[in-house]
Amino acid sequence: MATLRQQALGMVQARPRVTVTPPSSKISEYFGTNVFGMAEMKVSLAPSAYKKVMEAVDKGTKIDTTTAEEVATAVKTWALTKGVTHFTHWFQPLTGSTAEKHDSFFDMYAGVEKFKASALVQQEPDASSFPNGGIRSTFEARGYTAWDPSSPIFILDKTLCIPTIFVSYTGEALDYKTPLLKSMEAINDAAVEVCQLFDRNVRKVTPSLGVEQEFFVVDKALFAARPDLVMAGRSVFGHSPARGQQLEDHYFGSIPTRVKDFMVDFEIEAHKLGIPLSTRHNEVAPGQFEVAPIYEEINKAIDHNQLLMDVMDKVAERHSLKVLFHEKPFAGVNGSGKHNNWSLITDTGVNLFQPSNSARENLQFLTFLVATVKAVYDHSDLLRASIASASNDFRLGANEAPPAIMSVFLGGTLTDVLDELEKNGNIKIEKGDNMYMKLGISKIPEIILDNTDRNRTSPFAFTGNKFEFRAVGSSANCGLPMTTLNVIVAEVLKGMIKDIEKEMSAGKEKKIAIVNVLRKYIKDSKKVRFEGDGYSEEWAKEAEKRGLSNLKSTPEALDVYLTKATKELYERHNVLNQIEIHARHEIQLEEYIKKVQIESRVMGDLALNHIIPTAILYQNKVIQNANGLKGLGLDHSAAVDTIKEVSTHMESLKSNITAMVEARKKINKEDDIIKRAKAYQAEVKAAYFDKIRYAVDKLELLVDDESWPLVKYRELLFIR
Ligand code: ADP
Ligand code: MG
Repeated sequence: MATLRQQALGMVQARPRVTVTPPSSKISEYFGTNVFGMAEMKVSLAPSAYKKVMEAVDKGTKIDTTTAEEVATAVKTWALTKGVTHFTHWFQPLTGSTAEKHDSFFDMYAGVEKFKASALVQQEPDASSFPNGGIRSTFEARGYTAWDPSSPIFILDKTLCIPTIFVSYTGEALDYKTPLLKSMEAINDAAVEVCQLFDRNVRKVTPSLGVEQEFFVVDKALFAARPDLVMAGRSVFGHSPARGQQLEDHYFGSIPTRVKDFMVDFEIEAHKLGIPLSTRHNEVAPGQFEVAPIYEEINKAIDHNQLLMDVMDKVAERHSLKVLFHEKPFAGVNGSGKHNNWSLITDTGVNLFQPSNSARENLQFLTFLVATVKAVYDHSDLLRASIASASNDFRLGANEAPPAIMSVFLGGTLTDVLDELEKNGNIKIEKGDNMYMKLGISKIPEIILDNTDRNRTSPFAFTGNKFEFRAVGSSANCGLPMTTLNVIVAEVLKGMIKDIEKEMSAGKEKKIAIVNVLRKYIKDSKKVRFEGDGYSEEWAKEAEKRGLSNLKSTPEALDVYLTKATKELYERHNVLNQIEIHARHEIQLEEYIKKVQIESRVMGDLALNHIIPTAILYQNKVIQNANGLKGLGLDHSAAVDTIKEVSTHMESLKSNITAMVEARKKINKEDDIIKRAKAYQAEVKAAYFDKIRYAVDKLELLVDDESWPLVKYRELLFIR
């Protein structure tokens, strides 16, 4: 009988092409058709109601019941014309995916479709099974979702989805969105104050985000024939194929037809949902791809990224494909990340990270640039913790991805500018002098434009007019890292204002005061700047000398949540209280433990049920062969060697799995969750995963291809 693997391979070859026809050749004709956005509101709401919603979006003011009633009626009418039958609050619990609970518009008693303001504004999902880190004890397992009018309502699968926050009845945030919205306020607050030093007209500063999303695509049948992909999202075994990514031919190659059809298809759906996807291309590893939208206001961008992942999953079904969002689905080839392109934009239309032709604006640019560098330096551990997960651990610091050391890349030109400023900052500026010329900060724009050096190995890089946080994992919700970034930059900006004021009250002219503070900050945070190869061994050594942290595993990276400084920082900016921080720490540890536990079990099961039985059958064949040769009086030493080799790997497998199971049993008895997570890391993952994998991968090379049960890497990565 053919193995599942062989059947799956047969299915892939027989797949018919799924052709996709866009609704129109012009995206503009269908962009946003599934979104109840501002344009829809404008035509369907009374001007006064529209104005109130606009205000709520811009200023965060409350929407009164009458207005909510109007919006509810308008959105229902709109949705019904589109064949929508149900509605749901759509939110982002701390599980990393999105959650929905569908309710029908149909009111059985009234016999008509209804949608009340109360249903738009608030809903009470049965929240007891979402992770809450002990915030709510089970007897009062209640939480509610509340409408976030700043993110547009949309239709997915004939269901009206209302973006919401998710909080407990005692008021604690149980999701990613609530703290994100608060962090936007925090950075707005601090950044506006700094902007006012340069331009009195600035009233609002909004973070913008563009998320580059990397992912792998495999055929659905091949996926289903790999229990590890199904259970853990990653292959726990698999020998490297003869050809991996060494030819570097995939990155520049054309997108394979089947994947292209899939991408076109989900792009259409994304565009209908108002997600501004604009680029698609192959990534470095075979089978790996990337898409990116045009950047948007950060809250929308994160909703859109979460929604995009859902849409990709759903559309992949139609193409008999599976999308792997895991950070490291395959050993030996590149992993996947989610580059977070972040900038700050004022309501006067200025990108604060955009160097300009005006010297005065350049001083403002440098102020924000230096503040961000200092924020990464001062709070690198928080930033590191914000991207920590069991799956990202396989990628960070694995020699091909950004290391777990947080450093900032600025490029040669800006490095020179900062160095010069640091050096010349105390140059005497006489009356009538051009300070900007003297300090060498008057002509940054020209130099930056032709400054093309880009460093792909840095976890946090300045790329012309934005910072790019590249260490974020491909499966992550960007809410956590972006909340963290907003808060730490807000913190530095606040401190900066105080320092500048101090200088000014000591009699310094404003711009001199600013320059003095910048000089100090540049000096203070110099150690975090690194322009070299972030993947290299030397950098790890150098970073250690500089005193930078290199926290390689999630449990240790999360320790920073226990400190007083973290608690005070988040409380000072009114983003998370102590209970919420504590809960998040627990949830992340819990998730880590579960993930490692699942992988460890999958490894054990696969080895015992798939690998060892196959190896025994094969070994028996070789034994027969050896006996036959012996009977004929021929040399049978090669056969005997193979038999021995197979035995060695099988024994290693058996003993390591037994020991790993024992280790798990012991660790599961540990009550302290921090200790339990650390033990899972050291005594399960680090102690056994590589050893077990090594034995299986060796057996894969020994056992005849015909009977090997697991779909091989060359098939997963190249056949589609
Ligand atoms: P790459 O980094 O691959 O060279 P780009 O730099 O062109 O690609 O853009 C990557 C992402 O950065 C896109 O989503 C783009 O919209 C976004 N982006 C560009 N400018 C900004 C900005 N000022 N703020 C935030 N994101 C931006
Ligand atoms: Mg990029």
